[in-house]
Amino acid sequence: MTKPRYLTKSRFKLALGCSTKLFYTRKKEYEDTSEMDSFLQGLAQGGFQVEELARMYFPEGVAILGDDYNYDKLVSRTNELLQQENVTIFEPAFLVNGLFIRVDILEKKGNNISLIEVKAKSIDSESHTTFINQKGALSGGMGAYLYDVAFQQYVIKQGHPDWEIKAYLNLVDKSKYTTVNGLNSHFKIVPNSELRTNVEVTSGLTKSAIGESIMALINVQDEVALILNTNPIEDKTFEETVCFYRDHYANDIKIDTEIGAHCGGCEFMLHDPREGKKSGYHECWMKQLPIQKPELGKITKELIDQPKSYEIWNKPAKKAILERRFFTYELTRDDVKDDPGTYGMSRSDRQWLQIEKTNNNDNTVAVDVENLRLEMSQWKYPLNFIDFETCAVAIPFTAGMRPYEQLAFQFSHHVVYEDGRVEHHSDYINLEIGIFPNFEFIRALKESLAQNDGSIFRYHNHENTVVNVIYNQLKVSSEIDKNELIAFIETISHNTGSSAGNWCGDRDMIDLQRTVVRNYFHPQTGGSNSIKAILPAVLDSSTFLKKKYIQPIKYINLTTLNFKENFCFLTIEDGVAANPYKLLPPLFDGFSNDQLEEAIEHAKDEVRQIADGGAALFAYAKMQDATISNSERTETRVALLRYCELDTLAMVMIYECFKELV
Ligand code: SF4
Repeated sequence: MTKPRYLTKSRFKLALGCSTKLFYTRKKEYEDTSEMDSFLQGLAQGGFQVEELARMYFPEGVAILGDDYNYDKLVSRTNELLQQENVTIFEPAFLVNGLFIRVDILEKKGNNISLIEVKAKSIDSESHTTFINQKGALSGGMGAYLYDVAFQQYVIKQGHPDWEIKAYLNLVDKSKYTTVNGLNSHFKIVPNSELRTNVEVTSGLTKSAIGESIMALINVQDEVALILNTNPIEDKTFEETVCFYRDHYANDIKIDTEIGAHCGGCEFMLHDPREGKKSGYHECWMKQLPIQKPELGKITKELIDQPKSYEIWNKPAKKAILERRFFTYELTRDDVKDDPGTYGMSRSDRQWLQIEKTNNNDNTVAVDVENLRLEMSQWKYPLNFIDFETCAVAIPFTAGMRPYEQLAFQFSHHVVYEDGRVEHHSDYINLEIGIFPNFEFIRALKESLAQNDGSIFRYHNHENTVVNVIYNQLKVSSEIDKNELIAFIETISHNTGSSAGNWCGDRDMIDLQRTVVRNYFHPQTGGSNSIKAILPAVLDSSTFLKKKYIQPIKYINLTTLNFKENFCFLTIEDGVAANPYKLLPPLFDGFSNDQLEEAIEHAKDEVRQIADGGAALFAYAKMQDATISNSERTETRVALLRYCELDTLAMVMIYECFKELV
């Protein structure tokens, strides 16, 4: 039997992003990377856990269970419950005129309905007033959620015109503290389980056992009313838009959308055709390119796959794309705005380098040697390279913590001496269950960095942000040595906007990523300056690194705390230096570290509060669960130690590559 083709809230949101996607979605024959992505992103954002937590605050709630695709049964069970005068339902199902929705939580009191959408995004309920700005438009980065709620309200109203509906977002409240220990561990992530959300809730858990609520119920009725009165797509009211999408989806008719920069992250993109899978992306471009650029003549896959203007770092070519110059060979120097006044490579220099090297098939590195030499001459030996592993999750682990409060549980510290010796000087890890690790962490860091007065390096802003967070936590703490620790933080960092003080230390950590950005460009990075992109590039371009790290540790003047002396950080595959991170075991069951990192990157865009915790965030959350076995605990600890050691060694390798260049 063919499944009915109803417009659901996720399809509605998908269509708002690009209406052509409605045609490709849920078709086996089309590549679709979003299913796996959305699972991992849910885990990374904490959305699944928050959904289960939110339900706990409605102990009278009844869940609609059953096969997600047995629409009639779900609706009929919902209708049965709705016969009651007062009822709270989790995941009630509504099917009206080809539109199908399930609501996270619905409270019915007679004809008064509260429609509640649960999200892991945080809010400060004490300062929040509205998501509508002074110009009368939506603000606060909640647009997608608000459209989602508006769609749900619209569908319910169609079926129940007599109901008085109020819409709410149920968000994680940063102004609140959890009052119980181990809250997070009551909502245990169990990958690849049979559970709907892959979250196992502690059996018999009660509302009182989870303490004071850390959620905020935000009335968004004004925002929903605003959306219902606007035109989501040109010349179409909200209702017309919904019907337009519904009818095209029901009849499986493709809506053509103009190709452009928005195609860059298309989930229906497949570059290497596999058996039984098609690329929706290529279908779009195959159809649209002859219309948009008739001068190209016959369109082939190879032609479509040429490097695109929207792939250039920091997306300088918006105007070019509007002018349908989709390919990098169509860009000129005028497309990258000059940004004079900076020393070393400016942003526009790097963008133009990327364009030129892409167009010339030139895979050689570009370096501003003079400037690099000048920068490096200001560094003081011995050099200290540090990296933190942290965790900031929606549901806190210990009493007294706020949602998304930053926990610093691990660091690694490498020292490089002027004579070239490299020492893995120290590392710190605290995975103890229910312990707030930040103050012990900063004490250990202070001790480790006190062994010399050389320059300290971080990679990007994370380490500076974290010590600022700890600074604020220390200010309101009663730690005996808080003044000493605060003074230490002031020597190795500078204040951020949200800090309780104003300082810039004598040993303010040097951002190695900025040194990369100002002085080094390798085409293989695709313009990315993340350490995961730069490391393979420096390994590829440096003869010194290749020669050194292909040898076992014991032969290369390097000490290690976590690897065996016969371990080699570098292998060469098909003549190319392999990424050393690939040699590490996964930090979380069932997923590669790359997949976890990618999910965190997306989650950062979505819920923002997650900092650069990376894959270690998952591992830390797992270790806070008292029920995991000792062997798994030991394995994860060892994996975390190696992972963090490689993070600082990667910085050392970048330094060594630069040293060779100057
Ligand atoms: S390729 Fe572009 S137009 Fe086609 S579905 Fe993807 S984003 Fe939409």
